[in-house]
Amino acid sequence: MTKVRVRFAPSPTGPLHMGGVRTALFNYLFARKHVGDFILRIEDTDKTRYVEGAEEYIINSLKWCGIDFDEGPGVGGDFGPYRQSDRKEIYKEYALQLINSGNAYYAFDSPEELEKIRKEFEEQKTTFSYDASVRNNLKNSLTLSKDETEKLIEYNTPYTVRFKIPENENVTINDIIRGEVVFNTSTLDDKVIFKSDGLPTYHLANIVDDHLMKITHVIRGEEWLPSLPLHVLLYRALNWESTMPEFAHLPLILKPGGKGKLSKRDGDKEGFPVFPLEWKSPEGEISGGFRESGYYPEAFINILAFLGWNPGTEQEIFTREELINNFSLENVGRAGARFDPEKAKWYNQQYLKKKPDAELADTFSGILKQKNISAEKEYINKVIGLIKERACFINEFWDQSYFLFQAPVDYDSNSLKKFWKDDTAKIIREIIVFLKEASPFNSSILENVVKKYTEKSGIGFGKVMNPLRILIVGSNFGPHLFDIMELLGKEEVLKRIDNGVSAIMKDRG
Ligand code: GLU
Repeated sequence: MTKVRVRFAPSPTGPLHMGGVRTALFNYLFARKHVGDFILRIEDTDKTRYVEGAEEYIINSLKWCGIDFDEGPGVGGDFGPYRQSDRKEIYKEYALQLINSGNAYYAFDSPEELEKIRKEFEEQKTTFSYDASVRNNLKNSLTLSKDETEKLIEYNTPYTVRFKIPENENVTINDIIRGEVVFNTSTLDDKVIFKSDGLPTYHLANIVDDHLMKITHVIRGEEWLPSLPLHVLLYRALNWESTMPEFAHLPLILKPGGKGKLSKRDGDKEGFPVFPLEWKSPEGEISGGFRESGYYPEAFINILAFLGWNPGTEQEIFTREELINNFSLENVGRAGARFDPEKAKWYNQQYLKKKPDAELADTFSGILKQKNISAEKEYINKVIGLIKERACFINEFWDQSYFLFQAPVDYDSNSLKKFWKDDTAKIIREIIVFLKEASPFNSSILENVVKKYTEKSGIGFGKVMNPLRILIVGSNFGPHLFDIMELLGKEEVLKRIDNGVSAIMKDRG
């Protein structure tokens, strides 16, 4: 059996959208599952769309995700170079081969001439398309004599090479995800495949490289489906159909609302990242990344895997190895995959929960240091143990735990309005007596103390607990109160209660 070889072939036209990373991931999983090769190829023949820094960004993103490639820029391999701009010399030969076999032709129409014709068509309420219906009336090597054509080339007249799409033919192809797809060639135009600047366009370069790099499966986004018939026709015209790769077009990633393709704008509007890493455009505009938002790469990979693929079971959390073992293109759906930012957070939370407290403490210590808070490692570990279930990201730890590092300086007025009644101060003074006696000062003893007091006095549990929480935390917020009290210790708890009652009563006049 031929060895599986797949490639991820991004164009460095900007930061890699999460959809691009998903394409890379599915290629990677497929390659690893079939013990094949995964190749990164940079498709940078369109100089007008080239963006400085984009290639580096793509490579760093894949690195962060742990999607390692076997061949590619910086890694090498037997089929290099892997950047199309470094392969310039290769493509011309194939453009000439297509011209010589009658499958392509030189077109000398200038952009101005084409624009004029386009306008004339528009006036007639039709759209111009360079195809079989017009090619015989335009300035190209099909209408000019061989001599005229050669002269124009000799005099350096700018030209393009266009692929001659056969007339009214059905192209049938089996897509692994979509099944049989049929295209009629009358819907296609004669695409430019090469230009007189010596560079191929995407279509030619892509086909030539997939062939020369012995790619067995092309796994890419659905937006490339309309190009598929042209690609198949190119394989045929170059006599490569027998070794043509199989195709799998991945479903679109949809907006959280489910309608339309997910874009950077959706992320900006709703406050979630759409790029793996933060991106600073050459103009200085900054877009947030999953990494900077606090996502773990393992969680990000897990999120992406479920955008289009499903294992056919209830399991949602997959390690990389499990993904590799379970992945199959047959389990990728055709329907668009909705991105759910809340579910994405949930995934991160599952990974966060599994991290050892000591590891989280290392990162959290850094955050605390920035806030000029010093605390013992052991204490930080305990804080984390208490609050980590309540956070999706490490950068939420502070908001969940600030009261475990500093006593409240003011008390939330809404909580007070709701829970501080006329008899509250009296109740608190009574309970303090019992709290002082609690020994050891731990969560379960404290719970017993308060329960005993409420049972004896007939005062509702909430009437004690809510004000106590306000005094210790500053508002009606936080994890289990008795756990908080145990962590803070008797002295600190009593001090907070004392200070709090005085401050609140002073405020009430
Ligand atoms: N360069 C194309 C892109 O930017 C590659 C499409 C393909 O995989 O064939 O997505």
